[in-house]
Amino acid sequence: MRDKLLTQTKRLVVKIGSSLVASRDGGLRIQQIASITKDLAQIQATHREVVVVSSGAVVAGIQRLKFKTYPHSIPLKQAAAAVGQSRLIRAYENAFEKTGDKVAQILLTHDDLADRKRFLNARHTLTSLIQFGVIPIINENDSVSVDEIRFGDNDSLAGQVAHLIDADLLVILSDVDGLFSADPRVDPSASLIPLVTKFTKSIEQAAGQSRNQESRGGMVTKIKAAKHVGRFGVSTLLLNGEKKGLLPTVLRGEPGGTFFLPNQRPLSSRKQWIAFTLRAKGKLELDQGAIDALQQRGKSLLPSGIIDVMGHFKAGDAVSCTDKKGKEVAKGLVNYSALTLQKIKGHKTRDIKKIFGHQEYQEVIHRDNLVLL
Ligand code: GLU
Repeated sequence: MRDKLLTQTKRLVVKIGSSLVASRDGGLRIQQIASITKDLAQIQATHREVVVVSSGAVVAGIQRLKFKTYPHSIPLKQAAAAVGQSRLIRAYENAFEKTGDKVAQILLTHDDLADRKRFLNARHTLTSLIQFGVIPIINENDSVSVDEIRFGDNDSLAGQVAHLIDADLLVILSDVDGLFSADPRVDPSASLIPLVTKFTKSIEQAAGQSRNQESRGGMVTKIKAAKHVGRFGVSTLLLNGEKKGLLPTVLRGEPGGTFFLPNQRPLSSRKQWIAFTLRAKGKLELDQGAIDALQQRGKSLLPSGIIDVMGHFKAGDAVSCTDKKGKEVAKGLVNYSALTLQKIKGHKTRDIKKIFGHQEYQEVIHRDNLVLL
């Protein structure tokens, strides 16, 4: 299965971690960038479509601005990102010019994808670039991103991009060989896990033990991205980007890295967007009857099954639905605001008219706008 999915990959997102392309002392690693771009150019030449998500702007900027330590203040990080990003893109531009490939820079914030119209616009831009044989090089728009609109880490950004462009495969290149059963630096018996078919507890624990200092992610965000995209039918490959030529050989079916099998029954694109891209603005606590109706009978959510309403949200916002213990069971777009739901929670649908004099919707979340988690 792993070999079949890898060899048949048509469109892939390749996330390149900070430590591969830049260091705080030496700045951009031009040789290393050249080596990765050669591999990517080779892959692109075999009728595959490559989209790059590259980190490294902040680290390259820190070196250029001669900061002694990694800045903790947001404005300093943003300044470093602005200085580093132009150098980073220049390095890619130069390297891909040598392989004869065209590149384009795209900087995204979470807001660009949370709005359905902007999401579709971004998708059109990227697919047009791909059609022209251009390799898009994407990063978070760090210089203008504040907490509310951030992706936060590039593993998660790369996962969102894989969804945005309907990729078959997400490749995460870093300076480690893949996911190990334990931290190989402290446990000599640790072994590389070549294939993950399910996100079990032991997989999550293995992730918790390995760390990569320079990037914001570490193994935890990589596993999280793999888990997310897997639900949408996208496979993930964790690979050591320091090893020249490895990615093209793995795509020919050779061993290497850790491969995560995707879910065999992926969600539709719109439901993916609700589940994966949108951020919940509030929470609805549901009773067991409502949870059963959603999970087992494919029903919409009605006001009678809501025990509690948390957060300030408007009609049309995404909310998370939880059980009594706070475990998320579904996510969806609500038809009513938090204020209205406070008044109608626990009531029968027909009571809505009695309370407000009119009733716009039967359901609090229509089935078409609801994703089970
Ligand atoms: N966007 C950041 C940068 O380019 C990196 C974030 C990350 O590594 O996850 O420097």
